[in-house]
Amino acid sequence: MSELAIDREVDRSRMSVSDEVAIQITNMNKWYGAFHVLRDINLTINKGERIVVCGPSGSGKSTLIRCINRLEEHQSGSIVVDGIELTNDLKHIDQVRSEVGMVFQHFNLFPHLTILENCTLAPIWVRKVPKKEAVETAMYFLEKVKIPEQANKYPGQLSGGQQQRVAIARSLCMKPNIMLFDEPTSALDPEMIKEVLDTMIELAEEGMTMICVTHEMGFARQVANRVIFMDQGQIVEQNEPEAFFNTPQSERTKLFLSQIL
Ligand code: ADP
Ligand code: MG
Repeated sequence: MSELAIDREVDRSRMSVSDEVAIQITNMNKWYGAFHVLRDINLTINKGERIVVCGPSGSGKSTLIRCINRLEEHQSGSIVVDGIELTNDLKHIDQVRSEVGMVFQHFNLFPHLTILENCTLAPIWVRKVPKKEAVETAMYFLEKVKIPEQANKYPGQLSGGQQQRVAIARSLCMKPNIMLFDEPTSALDPEMIKEVLDTMIELAEEGMTMICVTHEMGFARQVANRVIFMDQGQIVEQNEPEAFFNTPQSERTKLFLSQIL
């Protein structure tokens, strides 16, 4: 067992969180300066859940998922990811980041590295995986997202949809337990949205724990087991997709759905 694995065992044993729970957020608040951006968030996500988060622009969706891998810091309450509480302890933050993959709206690939190098960089330098193994893993995931033939090209030579699939493959190369998606299709031309959603659907079918901020409501109906609606920094309503779309409870949810559906 590696040193890291031993550390993790110790950390897990300290937390009294069920083995079924992937993410537990309790009474969490976040401010940007004086602006109270996330208000008293309580959310438990079990392993294997596929969550879609929706809500108006500025409601705090990105901030919420960025808090889950500590790209943003919360000021009160707690966030426990895979048994590890997010505090200022850098070791814990590194552990969580290596377990949680994130895919952004604008792909964020390194433009000066090839597709293959984009996929092997973090495994080699962060995970200390031998280069040969990192390349094999990268090719496995590039095949999975159906673009192995692009491995030696640069991001600028690929379409947006292909770049986003590379970004997903790159995350998977770190063998995450949880994947976070922040509007992964909103920067794409319409004809490329499906290829990215198909990749995400496949991932969901394999049992990945996923949180997707998206307004692709077809995807939500097909893939999500729970849809969460946020407004003004709060979780206003959550339900399984059929009930969420057919019988929304709050006026704010009804208004939002009437605007996007
Ligand atoms: P969403 O993803 O739902 O559109 P965000 O989480 O990006 O919302 O933003 C929530 C609110 O926080 C918005 O009002 C936004 O302007 C504000 N905000 C986001 N990032 C920052 C920041 N780094 N500093 C200050 N305010 C921010
Ligand atoms: Mg956002």
